[in-house]
Amino acid sequence: MSDQQLGINTVCVHTGEVTDTQFKGAVSPVFMAISYAFDGVDVKRYPRYFNTPNQEALNKKIAALEHTEDALIFSSGMAAISSALMAFLKKGDHVILQQVIYGGTYNFVAREFEKYGIEYSYTESSVIDDFKVLIRPHTKIIYIETPSNPLLGITDISAVVKLAKDHGIMTMIDNTFASPINQTPADFGIDVVIHSATKYMGGHSDISAGAVAASKIHIAEIWETSRNFGGNLSDFMVWMLERSLKTLNIRVKEQTKNALVIAKYLERHKDIDRVYYPGLASHPDHELAATQMKRFGAMMAFELKAGIDAMEFQNALQLIKPSMSLAGLESTTVSPAQTTHASLTEKERLERGITQGLIRFSTGIEEPKDLIADMEQAIRSTKKALV
Ligand SMILES: *Cc1c(COP(=O)(O)O)cnc(C)c1O
Repeated sequence: MSDQQLGINTVCVHTGEVTDTQFKGAVSPVFMAISYAFDGVDVKRYPRYFNTPNQEALNKKIAALEHTEDALIFSSGMAAISSALMAFLKKGDHVILQQVIYGGTYNFVAREFEKYGIEYSYTESSVIDDFKVLIRPHTKIIYIETPSNPLLGITDISAVVKLAKDHGIMTMIDNTFASPINQTPADFGIDVVIHSATKYMGGHSDISAGAVAASKIHIAEIWETSRNFGGNLSDFMVWMLERSLKTLNIRVKEQTKNALVIAKYLERHKDIDRVYYPGLASHPDHELAATQMKRFGAMMAFELKAGIDAMEFQNALQLIKPSMSLAGLESTTVSPAQTTHASLTEKERLERGITQGLIRFSTGIEEPKDLIADMEQAIRSTKKALV
């Protein structure tokens, strides 16, 4: 049976697995060897060549999950992003980036592109015309991230792909927030799909990893640069990630289901001014999201009513943990104004929609009723401190 015919949970559990011919164990063995016999000119196995038995196994699973021909696994999301971008860029090339992207990617572009003489522009918004006006004769890549962080903005993937194809430009997407369970951008023609596997793919807040999925031709090109940059993941962690991916669908599905319950609760709440969740009909891009996402993911953001302090609210939570990362089995919060966007001025933050009372929420697998009870008591006790 080809992987195309297999159901998603079967792909998660089995695709790519290494057969233990010696002992017939039920799961892939771990191969920690960093040295393999020279096996003819075609296969020189070495961890930094991304072709150890465990790496090859996981590459196949990730490719199957993202509906691409091939994939590579990295030691972090940023290793994946930097290797994928630099594989295709040279001095004088131009990149168009969506205005809201992950902070680490923003820093990478600001520091490294300038050094190598790579030009770049950020769009004014995620509307397609804002991409169009930035196209130059030497534009090489359009880079997007949808849903975006922290306000869950949605970019029209098909429209970006069409625009890019019309101009012979490559497309890349950071698909971390959706995970391949909720969105498979290759189906819409995106060339390179990137993940921080530290998030949903790892899913247990204990693995740092990244992944790139694309056609065989594009992966071959990315591979050339990746083996020079050396951002491969240790085989033990590759094996850990394979283990995590077995439950990717059941985890993300449950998290996504819980997220809708929480979003609806927050939307009705009199002490919450606004909820950003693409699964709510009130989200400005709800209909667009429905055309390109299978479900709407487990990330959301909301604004506490003026006067309710974001830090105090988070400190009052008992079950839900404040956390800089996201996508674990446990629900977590972060307040962007005080953390990720703290270095910006108040004015710059407001231009980006980041208010003092904004909370980004990553939904876990806990029972929604318990999460709601925790938020309810935290809102109540923070308000009490006000009077
Ligand atoms: C975390 C994250 C990254 C970076 O991944 P690391 O594994 O921390 O290097 C990139 N993009 C998004 C959307 C992320 O959330």
